[in-house]
Amino acid sequence: MNKNSRGINLVISLLLIAMLFFWFSSTLRRMENTCTQAEFDQMLDSGVISGVLIEQNREVPTGSAHINLTDGGEKVLNVTDVNVLIAQLEEAGISPVIEDVPGENVFLTSILPALIMVGGIFLILMMMNAQNAQVNGGGKMMNFGKSRARMSVAGDHKITLKDVAGLKEEKEDLQEIVDFLRDPAKFTRVGARIPKGVLLEGPPGTGKTLLAKAIAGEANVPFFSISGSDFVEMFVGVGASRVRDLFEEAKKNAPCIVFIDEIDAVARRRGTGMGGGHDEREQTLNQMLVEMDGFGVNEGIIVLAATNRVDILDPAILRPGRFDRKISVGAPDVGGREDILKVHAKNKPLSDDVDLKQIAQTTAGFTGADLENLLNEAAIVAAKADRAFVNQEDIKKAFIKVGIGAEKKSRIISDKEKKITAYHEAGHAILFHVLPDVGPVYTVSIIPTGQGAAGYTMPLPERDDMFMTKGRMLQEIMVSLGGRIAEEIIFDDITTGASSDIKKATQIAKKMVTRFGMSENVGVICYDDDDDEVFIGRDLAHAKAHSELVSGEIDREVKRIIDECYVKAKELILQHEKVLHSCAQILLEKEKINRAEFEALFVS
Ligand code: ADP
Ligand code: MG
Ligand code: ZN
Repeated sequence: MNKNSRGINLVISLLLIAMLFFWFSSTLRRMENTCTQAEFDQMLDSGVISGVLIEQNREVPTGSAHINLTDGGEKVLNVTDVNVLIAQLEEAGISPVIEDVPGENVFLTSILPALIMVGGIFLILMMMNAQNAQVNGGGKMMNFGKSRARMSVAGDHKITLKDVAGLKEEKEDLQEIVDFLRDPAKFTRVGARIPKGVLLEGPPGTGKTLLAKAIAGEANVPFFSISGSDFVEMFVGVGASRVRDLFEEAKKNAPCIVFIDEIDAVARRRGTGMGGGHDEREQTLNQMLVEMDGFGVNEGIIVLAATNRVDILDPAILRPGRFDRKISVGAPDVGGREDILKVHAKNKPLSDDVDLKQIAQTTAGFTGADLENLLNEAAIVAAKADRAFVNQEDIKKAFIKVGIGAEKKSRIISDKEKKITAYHEAGHAILFHVLPDVGPVYTVSIIPTGQGAAGYTMPLPERDDMFMTKGRMLQEIMVSLGGRIAEEIIFDDITTGASSDIKKATQIAKKMVTRFGMSENVGVICYDDDDDEVFIGRDLAHAKAHSELVSGEIDREVKRIIDECYVKAKELILQHEKVLHSCAQILLEKEKINRAEFEALFVS
């Protein structure tokens, strides 16, 4: 809706309201005074009528009678046959005055209501039209249940993978999807199965939406994008019908991409809805799952979804045949940040003293969106100073401004903290590597995750082990302790950063003792019969199933296990102290180190 028609709409609405009010008050007044034929008969009998004015329609016998009462009051009677009334009055000795129905009265009683109706309908249609035009670009009416998805047709995307800086591994993962969309035959010929759904997951602002758009641009296929919150409406059933509609459209346009942004709005774990409205969401989610199961593999529809909250998603959505591929999009490392800065500096004239590399180094934990924002703020500072170039000083000023905002999310990290984190993660990584049943290390990183962790060490995705062995559990405890041990070896002091590691180690040890019967002193008895039910207050209500004596024994055992692990882990790390230093050094430089680079450290 443009501004002009919005103005007209406003005027029409105001007029309608005024008319409605006018009409209402006059009818109300009439209604108050209206009397029935029976009441009239009674008044006539009791002789309280002093005079009658009949307003008569000329063509028909109907009309209305204004009755003046002897006490000064006035009543109105709707008359079905004026002649009958006149006869009745004459019988009672009253001669009525007869007039034609006044013109404006006809207007008030019949034309005005009709006008209001027509105007109202017109207005509603206008509004619905405008809404549809906004979301669909088309003017169909009455389509609440339509998908709302915005379709962009092949060829009109401007964003390609080139616009997405950094994210090298993520782009590689997605490249095969692009290849498939470009030339499906190449894959189907050899019987390859292409994933139906790909879930992009990671903190806000890391470029997930951008990446999805870039894939569509790269593959040159129609791209339906919709946000999860578009499905969640007030009207029950609308979400589900929108999903149906969306996939119908997609099937007509295959090969194509369906992109569901912020999917967590619909795909939240079912049955956890608080308050009203979650039934609607469940319906929508169910419909989505049905649709995804419904189209065959290699039909040419690829569903991309993005979320910041993979932890709250319904597990059903991640089952094979649905979103069977998950790509984590993390905050960029130094190199990635420099690339992103370069992309966004393209249309901003920079003065020679700007050192993007140095900016990249000082912005650990910044996402792509933060960096874009940083350069934009710098440009604003430059513009305020009436300069045609952005200089390093502007960026510094912008950094302070943006940094305060970013600090809430990720914190600006001091060099000292960085160093501690580097050694901490290196400690974990070494143990992953040297212990036989855990690892191998996939990545080590000191890029803050945005969820409070200063860094992470990621082993390769779980191997298919049916059972945890006692040995493996002990090794996991050691790995958990590794970070803290490294801090202790290198710095005389220790930090609070290891608290979640310590918690994890303790939990494993406790389970070994109380659930799996893995300690000699406590024996093969299960002292821990909780069934992982989610129930607030369970721990409080849960009566201790064992005596204080056993409790003390359990605590002693847990402590013994952890102490032994600590000693062994420390020995191992000390044996590889050289690697500890070299790994930490590389982390400080590059913030991230992959498996090959890490394993090379052990050879030299
Ligand atoms: P998300 O969907 O992950 O929350 P977006 O894709 O909406 O994040 O990113 C927001 C903005 O941040 C983008 O429009 C872009 O300007 C910038 N941005 C984020 N990541 C990158 C990147 N890797 N390369 C270039 N720009 C990026
Ligand atoms: Mg997004
Ligand atoms: Zn740790």
